This record gives sequence, structure tokens and C-alpha cells, in this order.
Amino acid sequence: MKIGTKITLKFNFIVSVILISFAASVYFSFSNYREEEFYTRLKEEAENTAKLYSDVEEVTYDVLKKIDKISENILTDEKVLIYDLNNKLLYSNQEIDVDEIDHAKLTELKIEKEIRYKIGEVEYFGTFFIGKFDNFLVVSSALDEFGLSKLKFLKYTLIIGVLIALTISSFLSFFFSKQSLNPISDVIKQVDGITISNLNHRVNEGNGTDEIAQLAIKFNKMLERLEAAFEMQRSFVSNASHELRTPLTAITGQIEVAIMGGNVNNEAQQLLNSILDDIKELNKLSNGLLDLAHANLDISEVTLSLIRIDEIIGAIQAELVKRNKDYKIEINFLDYPDDENWITVHASDQLIKAAISNVIENACKYSKDHIASISLEFGKKNIFITIQDSGIGIPADNLVHIFEPFYRADNARGIKGHGIGLTLTQRIIQLHNGKIHIESIVGKGTTVQLQLPHL
Ligand code: ADP
Repeated sequence: MKIGTKITLKFNFIVSVILISFAASVYFSFSNYREEEFYTRLKEEAENTAKLYSDVEEVTYDVLKKIDKISENILTDEKVLIYDLNNKLLYSNQEIDVDEIDHAKLTELKIEKEIRYKIGEVEYFGTFFIGKFDNFLVVSSALDEFGLSKLKFLKYTLIIGVLIALTISSFLSFFFSKQSLNPISDVIKQVDGITISNLNHRVNEGNGTDEIAQLAIKFNKMLERLEAAFEMQRSFVSNASHELRTPLTAITGQIEVAIMGGNVNNEAQQLLNSILDDIKELNKLSNGLLDLAHANLDISEVTLSLIRIDEIIGAIQAELVKRNKDYKIEINFLDYPDDENWITVHASDQLIKAAISNVIENACKYSKDHIASISLEFGKKNIFITIQDSGIGIPADNLVHIFEPFYRADNARGIKGHGIGLTLTQRIIQLHNGKIHIESIVGKGTTVQLQLPHL
């Protein structure tokens, strides 16, 4: 999960807990307050009625009922019931059935002296009234219509309020987390664009003071060290292979002279020929390493020119066939594009030649018939060069390593090679913003597709 999403979720969780706790505490304290207030009113009603009933001699049963009816503060469904200590109903402001008398509650009232309870939404208050002449059990009850409707209103207001606040806080937290993480996303994007070929690029260090800027500064320092190490390695490979060239050429010349001189016997001649082959391989390896060192340069450091791909493939074909008489390179260009730009690339002549030549040479080298078949296709932006053979193929588990330097597939051990050709090809193609794709089936053959942007 992304940090931004995590922060948003955590923040919203905390805000929800706070808001819901706040809303719940407001709701419950108001609910308690309403209940207390209502029981106080019920108590007053109970005590006033009981007082009139028991202590004021002039107030008879009927008078009390009338007083009760004209009272202004009458509550919804208000009932005041007065019982003697034997649970006998003495007074009731409304008609009630004898079955309605709750003897269990009256017994509880005699023990507790004051009780409160609810049946549905109707609230009851019972009190043990000690009058001037006698003691009574008084139970008043009513429905707190206004209080309950206020409570309901408060409940809905709080729910809607909390929902609105949560929605706003979600949007704001998403917005702010995105805004504060934007610099990190920028750094990620810039880092993503840094490859071996542009190690000289640096990421934006922003204001230079906050944590993200510190990260960018440290990253840039690491890039500097990496670039220096890389440059050291590249120049070492380049210098070493360059230095090797002169003695190798000299040795080749001397051996050739010795063979041509005819002063050596057959056995020695065979030996010299074999040494010559090995020296040529060594020469190829050192040239390959030199090319690899060049391919690791930034594209801006390579000399680019306009190259027609069909011409370069023709030149490679001629060169390879001249060097290896048994190689057959079939070129099948069915349709040439109308626009000449579609077959032209802006590239390093030497490097592109090396890249395509490696793949074609592999196709011939790793197949018994030594046939490489080449086709060209043209897209709006890219030119696709497909090189196919019906050779030994590459085992599937080797295929993933095939672009690693000096890696050779298990079934290629008996065939000469150094394992740097495809590494070099991939580097060169990537350097020119292209792609390489390879498919292979053991025993059936290999297809390599090179994609290069045309003009
Ligand atoms: P090498 O000098 O060994 O040919 P490459 O880098 O050109 O080096 O190729 C790496 C390995 O990939 C080879 O050793 C071989 O195992 C395998 N390979 C490349 N191309 C082919 C192909 N056309 N057919 C079969 N195997 C191939």
C-alpha cells in the first residue's frame, strides 16, 4: 500500500474515532439530562398530587381530578396513581383497569422508597409518600414527547454532521497527503529515469532543507560515487582491450608470416593455424569489450549519423559471408516504406553494426544449416528487424540470463563464443532508445527482434 493511502486511512480512522466519540458523548449526556429533567417533573407531579390528596382536607377525589384536568403543565399520557400500603388504588387521574396494577413494582417501591423505570417509551416514577395523616405509594408516568423528539433530532443532526465532517476530512487528508508526498513522487520519477547511460543526471534537490531534499542530496552523492566507479570500470575495460589490440595484431601478423613462409613442417603448421584461430577469437573478444565500453557511454558522447538499416544489413551480410564461407544470410524485405525516413535511424554507425551483426552471426553460428533469415517491418515510430534461425535454440531457464555479460547457454558449450555479444547488442539497442526481444525453443530455433526508432 502506498504511503499516501496509508496516511489518509490512518488520519481518517483517528478523525472518525474522535468525531464518533464526541457525537456519542454529546448524545448520551443530552439523553441523561433529558431523563433526569423528566423524572424531576414526574416526581413533582407525583408529590404535588399526593400532597393535595392526603394533606389538604378540602380537596376531595373529584376536586383533585378537576384540578388535574385544568392543569396547564399536563404531560403526554400523564398518569398519577395513589395506592395505600396494601396496593389498593385510592386515586387515579385517568381510568385504569385493576389488571394494570403492577404489584411487583409496588412491593419494590415499599422497600426502595423511590423507583424509576420505563415500559416502552413511557417513563415511571414511584415514591413512598409520607403524608400528615397517612403514608401512600404514588406512581406517576408520562411520555416525554418533546424531550424524545429533541433527542431524535439531535441524533440525526449528529449522524449527518459526523458523516459530512468525515467526507470533508477524507478529501482534505487525501489532498494534503498527496500534496506533501508530491516531492517524493517527483524524486521517484526522476530516479526512474536514471539508467547506466545517463548516470550524470541528478535529481532535483528542492529547497535543500527538508527531509525529502536531504534524501535527494544523499541520492545525488551516491550517484556521483556510482558514476565515478562506473567510469573507472568502463575506462579500465576500454584501456585494457585497447592495449591488447596491438600485441594481438602483431602476433597474428607474425604467425601468418610464419605459415606463409613455408619453413615449418605440417605438424607445426597445424599448431600455428590453431593458435591463429585462438588469437582471432581473443581479438574478437577484445574488440567486443571495447565496443561494450563504448556502448556504456551516454548517447550524447557517441557520434551519431543517419543510417539506412537495409544498407547496414547488406554490409553485415557481405562481411559475415566473407569471413565464414558456410554462412547463409537470407534477406527478405518484402515491402519498402514509401517514406525513406522510415528505414533510416539516427544512430552510431559502428555500434548499430556491431549490435545487428552479433545477432545475425549467432543465428548462423548456433544452427547446423548456418542460415539466418532477416526480415524488416515498419511501424509509425519504429523499425522492427527480425532475425530467425532453425538452430539449437536456448533452454527456457537459460533465456532469462542471456543478456548477462559472459553468460552462455548450457547447450552452447561446444561452439566458440564469449557471451558478451548479446549484452553488447542489448546495451547498444537501449542506448538508441530501442528494445530487444528474444524467443527460442530448444531444437527448433531462435527469433530475435530488434526495435529501433526511425526518423
Ligand atoms: P556468444 O559469444 O557465446 O555467442 P552471445 O552473448 O552472443 O555470446 O550469446 C550468449 C549466449 O546466448 C550464447 O552463448 C548462446 O548460448 C545463446 N544464443 C545466442 N543466440 C543464439 C541463437 N541464435 N541460437 C541459440 N543460442 C543462442
